[in-house]
Parts: sequence; structure tokens; C-alpha cells
Amino acid sequence: MRLNELKAHELLPMIRRKEVSVEEVVAAILHRISAIDSKIRAYITVAGEEALKKAKEADARLAGGEPARPLEGLPVAIKDNICTQGLRTTAASRFLEGFTPFYDATVVERLKDKGAIIIGKTNLDEFAMGSSTENSAMFPTRNPWDLKRVPGGSSGGSAASVIAGEAVCALGSDTGGSIRQPASFCGIVGLKPSYGLVSRYGLIGYASSMDHIGPMTRDVRDCALILGAIAGYDSKDSQSYPGELPDYTECLVPDIKGMKVGVPKEYLDEGLSGTVRDAFMKALDKLEELGAKVVEVSMPSLKHSLAAYYVISSAEASSNLARFDGVRYGYRATGSDDSMTMMAMSRGEGFGPEVKRRIVLGTYVLSAENYDKYFGEALRVRSLVTRDFREVFEVCDCLVGPTSPTVAFEAGEKTRDPLEMYLSDVYTVPPNLAGIPGVSIPCGFDEEGMPIGLQIMARQYNEEALLRAAYAFEQATEFHKRNPEIEKYTKEPAGGEMSV
Ligand code: GLN
Repeated sequence: MRLNELKAHELLPMIRRKEVSVEEVVAAILHRISAIDSKIRAYITVAGEEALKKAKEADARLAGGEPARPLEGLPVAIKDNICTQGLRTTAASRFLEGFTPFYDATVVERLKDKGAIIIGKTNLDEFAMGSSTENSAMFPTRNPWDLKRVPGGSSGGSAASVIAGEAVCALGSDTGGSIRQPASFCGIVGLKPSYGLVSRYGLIGYASSMDHIGPMTRDVRDCALILGAIAGYDSKDSQSYPGELPDYTECLVPDIKGMKVGVPKEYLDEGLSGTVRDAFMKALDKLEELGAKVVEVSMPSLKHSLAAYYVISSAEASSNLARFDGVRYGYRATGSDDSMTMMAMSRGEGFGPEVKRRIVLGTYVLSAENYDKYFGEALRVRSLVTRDFREVFEVCDCLVGPTSPTVAFEAGEKTRDPLEMYLSDVYTVPPNLAGIPGVSIPCGFDEEGMPIGLQIMARQYNEEALLRAAYAFEQATEFHKRNPEIEKYTKEPAGGEMSV
């Protein structure tokens, strides 16, 4: 079996039937990482020793006749802004370079309890602020389809690790698109769940009213599997959804006959590239062919959502990041005589330029004289966006649009102009403002072989409709089966085969 084609739903039964040992699986993934990650740079920290130890323990338990847990032996990568007990968690910031949490995020605890094995921590834009992983204070990650290009961001390391076969599944975080946009740039499935469905406890906060954690996987079935493993009420998250949840793998029926699918016309504006538009149009034809009824809808508030997002997210970031003062944990500057200077210097030296830009912007929009003009106005846009979504979901089961206006761009192409970079989130931010779920799935490739993503959105807590539409589309297409030719990046064998 080729490692980089492995899906969790294929691997787990093989482990259960003892056709492959957990140690073999983990060793193969680690071999792959050592063969190719110097080119891709998906990981900030690889927890190789601990992962192998856990693998051996799992094999011993299985040999002793203990039943396999639901995710027994599944190698998972975790974005490095999600806390892992005893494993360095940096948020790709100098500030947290040496920070080791003493507790697990709820999502990590749930994955571990179900038998998953944490392979390592993946790269991101510092504190998840960015769309290309170039804002990481550590190093940029490359796109496995073309090393000259970015993998998207901010969960670029997680997306790259999955498509490159350096993990079977990964977790990412999404405040304005950071799961869906890199999923689209790397040709994988990335789901931002409804706000409150997955606990944020242990996620290093960026903009708390829009922060989400979600799965990044090779196909929709794995996405449903991981979502089921991490979702559900958590008393440690004040916004946690207390309702009963379905078994998400049970809604994977490839039948969308009669489903009403809306296309917001604001998603097809002049910023959309020709190749992405063509792929999206073909995707609409496919949905119709499968029996969905595609209708055009209009959501006038959407054109203001990007501006509102950057005001609200920067405001919340400026307040969230106030905790980094050099006193309690993280980086502390030396050479100052008093505590005020120490704090100012620590922040000056510890944060990178994009993070500082957001803090300055956030503090500005929250200042007394600007509050209503910017922050208040952005909150009003947010209610309009929420209302527009509520209204279209009265007539549509789900909405579709492109995930990002372009395919993955070249490294360095947008780093000089923050506004250009921000525009790459134009289609992903509305669901964060409204708290509704959105998933990106592969829907095509451009003429240079770069993946294109289709975004599907549904009513809050209706992940079932979203997964059903995503599954039906995926099963009727072949895009999710294509793989980048990683082997060309390395002279050694890239750990492409596993002996099963
Ligand atoms: N690119 C967006 C930003 O920089 C979204 C980031 C995210 O979702 N974490 O804010």
C-alpha cells in the first residue's frame, strides 16, 4: 500500500485485523517525514520517540487481547497552536518558542483517548494570522504540489503534512479560513465546524468569537470520522454546544437528489480567477447531474464581510494577545531596568510584524473615538451577514462557492502587500462571522496541476447536510485520488511503500 494514499477509514480496520502493526504504521510515517520534510517543512516539532513508544504500547495491548479503540494507531498531526501536554507548542511565534503546556487541549485529549497517536506539531502563520504560512517565525512551509508555492494558511503545515503522506489526518484551526483555504491549496478536505461544536479549550486564542478547530483529511469519510471524535459538549468551553450529535459517518450517503443548493452571486465577483471559475462551474454541473437543484441567491452583505472580519479579528486579537507580557510565560527580553520597559521590549522582540500590525489595528478600532465608527460598524455587518445566511437557509439546504479566488500562489508573491494577502480569505470569512459550518473539498486542477477547492456551507449545526453533499460530489469525481509526486523531491526512497 502506498503510504501517501492511506486513509484513516482504510488503515484502522487493517490495524484492528492485525494486518499491520501500529509500530509499522508509525515507523513508516516517521520515515516519510525524515525523507521529505526537509523540503516541505510541514512540522515544527516531530514527536518521533513518544509516537513510537505509544505505538508499541498499543501493539502490546492488542496482542494481549484488548479491543482496539475507535482510532487505535491513527497517526495524526496537530497544528502548533493547539496545546499538547509535555509537547512544545509554539504557535509559530518567538514568544512561545520554549513553551511546553502542562495540559492537553480537549480535542487532543479526545483523540488520544480514542487511540490516535500524535506524530507532531505543524507549522502555521504566527498565532494563526495569515494565509500562506509565510508569517511563521520559524520557517515557511512549501506546497507539496509545487515547492515554489505556498500551502495556504494559516494551517499550511497541517494541510501539507496530509497530502504529502507525513500524517494520515491533521487538526487545523480556522478563524477566517485557515482550515479551508490551505485544504483547497493542497487538494485535501478541510472542515470548519459550526461555532461551539468542537471545544476550543487549549487552542491558543486569536479571535475567540470566530476561532474553530476542525479536521483536515484526505477524504470526506475521514473528515466525518475525525469530526465525530472531537465534537461534542465540553464544560471547559463557555460557548460549547450542549445538544445531541449524530454519527457523522452515517450521513455519508451519496445521494443528493432534490437537495436545494444555493450559489451566492457575490461569490462569483471580478476577483475570481478564470480557472477557478471554470472548475466551479463544472462542479455545479456535476451537482445538477447528481440530482441537486442549483439556484442563484443573493446575499448583499457579503461584500462587506472581509472588512468586518479584519476589524473584529484584529480587535479580539489585540485583547487576546495582551496576556503575552513577558511576566507569566513565554519570551522575556533582557536588559531592561523596570517592568514596563521589560514588557514593552518583550512584546517588541517576541511578536513578528503581522502580529504587531493586527495588535495596532485592533487597539485603534477599539479606542474610544473609533469604537463605533469601526468596531460597532463591523458588528452591525456581522449581524447582517448572519441574517442573510439565515434567510437563504430557509430556501436552500446548502450553499456552494469557490473556497479561494485563486490556486496556491508563489512564495513571496503577496508578502509585501497585506491587503492582497487578506483578499485570499474573501470567500471563507463569511461562515466565521455567522458561525455556520463550511468545508472545502477538491473540485479540480488548473493547467499547471494545482488543486482547486469547492466550499460547501450549511445551516448552523447542520454538518450532516454539508457532509452528505460533499460525499456525493467526492464519490462522483476523481480529484481526491490524485497525489503530488513527492518522490521527485528526494533521491532516497521517500518511504512511499508499506509492507502490507
Ligand atoms: N487569513 C486569515 C487571517 O489572517 C484567517 C486566519 C485564520 O483563519 N486563522 O486572519
